[in-house]
Amino acid sequence: MPSIPVLRNYIAGAFSDSAELHEVRNPATGALLAQSPLSAQADVDRAIAAARSAQKAWGRRPAIERAQYLRRIAARLRENVVRIARTITEEQGKVLGLAEVEVNFTADYLDYMAEWARRIEGEIISSDRAHEQIFLLRKPLGVVAGILPWNFPFFLIARKMAPALLTGNTIVIKPSEETPINCHAFTELLAQCELPAGVFNVVYGQGSTGGALSAHGGVDMISFTGSVGTGERIAAAAAPHITKLNLELGGKAPAIVLADADLDLAVKAIRDSRIINTGQVCNCAERVYVQRQVADEFTARIAQAMAATRYGNPLAQADVEMGPLINQKGLDSVDAKVRRALADGAQLVTGGQVADLGAGFHYQPTVLAGCRADMEIMRKEIFGPVLPIQVVEDLDEAIALANDCEYGLTSSLYTRDLTKAMQAMREIDFGETYINRENFEAMQGFHAGVRKSGVGGADGKHGLYEYMHTHVVYLQS
Ligand code: NAD
Repeated sequence: MPSIPVLRNYIAGAFSDSAELHEVRNPATGALLAQSPLSAQADVDRAIAAARSAQKAWGRRPAIERAQYLRRIAARLRENVVRIARTITEEQGKVLGLAEVEVNFTADYLDYMAEWARRIEGEIISSDRAHEQIFLLRKPLGVVAGILPWNFPFFLIARKMAPALLTGNTIVIKPSEETPINCHAFTELLAQCELPAGVFNVVYGQGSTGGALSAHGGVDMISFTGSVGTGERIAAAAAPHITKLNLELGGKAPAIVLADADLDLAVKAIRDSRIINTGQVCNCAERVYVQRQVADEFTARIAQAMAATRYGNPLAQADVEMGPLINQKGLDSVDAKVRRALADGAQLVTGGQVADLGAGFHYQPTVLAGCRADMEIMRKEIFGPVLPIQVVEDLDEAIALANDCEYGLTSSLYTRDLTKAMQAMREIDFGETYINRENFEAMQGFHAGVRKSGVGGADGKHGLYEYMHTHVVYLQS
């Protein structure tokens, strides 16, 4: 029998063993894939100390030199797309095509952030005083802790480390306990790129390891992606040190379908949005508000499209469009939310059951009609292939319902009426709105939420500048 790989933390440029380990399994089959460290406080302390001692020299290098490392890592990733994509699918469950997109997007993201090396801007402002200039200098924060979820386990490493490193910070990454193998694959390639020791570090572990990072006085910024509940705990742990927070949290994206919409487009985009990564995406359509005139037709067509989805083990069948959910807890949570929605009066149009495929955490693509604003299914994140639909009379009602939600990450609208699109632009209170297209952000945009969906944001110029502070110098001569 082949031996099971044992993953190791990466601290100060070296892989190091850990005393305690936990098992990592394939969510489609239950097969044991690896053993991964459960890092203790001492590991976290060592990683932060390594990042701290590397930061000054790293931060003093010209940004263009730091960018060269990002480009080198991107090139290594591109040489390994097929192998890494398989690792992602095996460990996290998304289909191979999407896993390949994730690896290529990660490489592109590193290159994109590297392009900013010659574009970081300070400012010079005129002073109220004679013979004085005011300089606004952009400087690195110091040591960043990047705490990651499991749904895009490979890309999210780059989303944190690329802007952090480019701007002169060093980083300690804590991947999700569900997907450490991805991070290990990334780190093994990075270790071949001669990055100075301590600039990039990884500690594996569960919530307690993330908690130790969050409460650590040696961290200057916590860049977290994950659930609202964990975001609240991180904010509380960071409070005594007033550590800077960047929180990318959950979503409950509304999709508004008006009577004049291109229904072919709306059905395809919303269905794809619910199926991609088995509905485990923070920004994808989670609730539909459809105008009464087209409600029956839209519901019938999207139910048909959802029901036709081929699901199963992505590594066993090439034509699978949707893999398993991440674990038993995720499966139970999705099923319980569907059961409660039905008990509350929602009508089952298609799906609604755990899919017994012999192994793995599979759920049938599900459509629920007749939903109401007071139902949990219209208010709480689902993280599975379940689409609840509520009928509305007009855009005003849809916008009011969309905004009345604790989350405010992404939203979408389907209409051919430019005036209605402009009204939504003005009135919908979300970090992102997609009009007549699927929900998928661009790296040059700004991915951020309002309300409980987060603090700060990622991507583009504004995401890059989150990793710097502004030092103001008054120079009188
Ligand atoms: P999670 O909050 O359970 O875990 C995320 C990470 O936090 C893991 O590494 C975990 O070990 C760690 N963690 C757990 N408890 C902690 C604590 N007390 N202190 C510090 N760290 C702790 O989230 P998840 O289940 O891995 O991911 C799914 C969630 O992530 C969803 O809510 C989804 O919407 C969100 N998400 C948001 C975005 C975004 O850009 N806004 C992107 C992807 C995922």
